[in-house]
Amino acid sequence: MSKKVYLRPSIKKQHLGAANKFAGFHPPETVSSIDGILVEDLLNKYGSPLFIFSETTIRKKIAAYKQAFESRYPMFQPTWSYKTNYLNDICKVFHKEGFWAETVSAFEYEKARKNGIPGNRIIFNGPYKPYEALKLAVSEGARIHADHLDEIKDLMKIADELGRKVDVSIRISMDTGSYPTWSRFGFNLESGHALEAATKIAESGGKLNLTGVHSHIGTFMLEPSAYKKAALQISKFYKVLRDDLRQPMQYIDLGGGFVSANKLKNIYQSGASLLPSFDQYAEAICSALYDAFSPEEPPSLFLESGRALVDESGFLASTVVGTKTLPTGRRALILDAGVNLLYTSTWYDLNISPIKDYSKDFEEVILYGPLCMNIDIVRETCILPNMARGESLLIHPVGAYNVTQWMQFIEMRPAVVLIQTNGQIKQMRRRETTDDINAMEVES
Ligand SMILES: *Cc1c(COP(=O)(O)O)cnc(C)c1O
Repeated sequence: MSKKVYLRPSIKKQHLGAANKFAGFHPPETVSSIDGILVEDLLNKYGSPLFIFSETTIRKKIAAYKQAFESRYPMFQPTWSYKTNYLNDICKVFHKEGFWAETVSAFEYEKARKNGIPGNRIIFNGPYKPYEALKLAVSEGARIHADHLDEIKDLMKIADELGRKVDVSIRISMDTGSYPTWSRFGFNLESGHALEAATKIAESGGKLNLTGVHSHIGTFMLEPSAYKKAALQISKFYKVLRDDLRQPMQYIDLGGGFVSANKLKNIYQSGASLLPSFDQYAEAICSALYDAFSPEEPPSLFLESGRALVDESGFLASTVVGTKTLPTGRRALILDAGVNLLYTSTWYDLNISPIKDYSKDFEEVILYGPLCMNIDIVRETCILPNMARGESLLIHPVGAYNVTQWMQFIEMRPAVVLIQTNGQIKQMRRRETTDDINAMEVES
C-alpha cells in the first residue's frame, strides 16, 4: 500500500457575495416603489433623506393581529403603544381601528388626549408619572398601572383630594423563562412584592380599588411559550387578588413585545420564517387564559403591541453623498442618513434595497451615515450594485422606534410621509430647519 501524499492546507480568500462553495450569490432586491408610488418621485418632492410609511401595510398587520386574538378571545381590547411611533397620523390609524392609547409619560398622555382619545380609553404606564399628571389622568378615568409604592401613596392622596375611590392596576414582573427578567418595572411576583403592593391597595381604607394586573415581559420576544407562562402566572395572581383580597378585578394586560420581521444582529436566522406569527402568540396566551379560568368567564384581555404592528410599514429613503475606498481595499458609501435617524440599527441588520438597477456589478460595501462620528455605521457589510453619488436606496423595516428615538444631532430630522390606502401622499411631518432649533434658545 502506498503512502498517502501530504497536501499542505491552504487558505483561499472567498469574496462575500460572489458565487462560491459556501454561499450562493444573493444580489439585493431592487425596490423602486412602495404601494405603487415611485420612491424617486417622493425624494424629488420631499427631499432626501425621507421616512415613508405605508398605511396599507399597517392596516394589513392590524387585520392579522385582530383576527388572531378576536377569533380566540372575544373580550379583547388592543391598545397602541405610543412610544413605538407617536406621529399623530400613525396613532390615528390605530385609533380608527379601535385601539385605545397606551402611554408611558405625561407627554404621551397629553398627546393621546389631543388626538381625541378620552381618558377612559388611555392606559397610563411607566415608572414616572408626575403628581399633577397622575391626578389629571385619574380624574379623567384613565387606567393607571402603578409601578412602585410611592405611586400608590400618591394615588391614595389623589383619592383624598378628589373625595372618591380610585381604580388602579399594578404592573408585575415575573420569571417567564426568558432572561434577563425585566425586574426593574412594577412589583416582582416571586419575591412577594406584588402581593404586598396589592395588599396595600386592598387595605387602603376604601381609597383604592384594584381592577387589573399588567405585565410587559420584554421586547422582540422570540418564544411564544414565555407568554403562555406569563398568562398562567398572571391568571393565578389575578384570582388571589379577586378571591382572597376581594378586589373588583376586571382585566389582565399582557403588554407588548411581539417580534417584527427584522433581523437581530448576530443571530443566524433565515429571514421571517423562524419568527412567531400573531396566531402563535394568540394561541399561547388565549389557551392559557381559558385553562386558568375554565369554567368561569375569563377576564378582559388587553395588549399593548408596538413594534410588531408598525415596524414593517416604515422605510427610510436615503441617498449616497460620496463613495470611497478604505485603506483595506474595502468600498464605503456615505449616506445622508445615519444612526441619528436609525436608533434600531444598533440591534438589527436592516435590509438595504437600491431603488433602481444601478449596475450589473455588485460589491460588498460598508454603509456610513453623514455624522462626523466614528460610530455612525448603518450596515457593517452588505452587498449592493456599484452605486455612485446621487443614487438612492431604501432602508427597511424602520417603522418602530426610529421616528420617536431619532436625534437632532449634527443634522436636521427629515420629513415623514404616509402613503394612504387611497394612494394619496400625506406629509405627516415636515423637514426641520435651523430656525426650529434656534426658536427654543432664549436670546439674552
Ligand atoms: C414599549 C412598551 C410596549 C410596546 O412594546 P413592543 O415591544 O414595541 O410591542 C408595551 N407596553 C409597555 C409598558 C411598554 O413600555
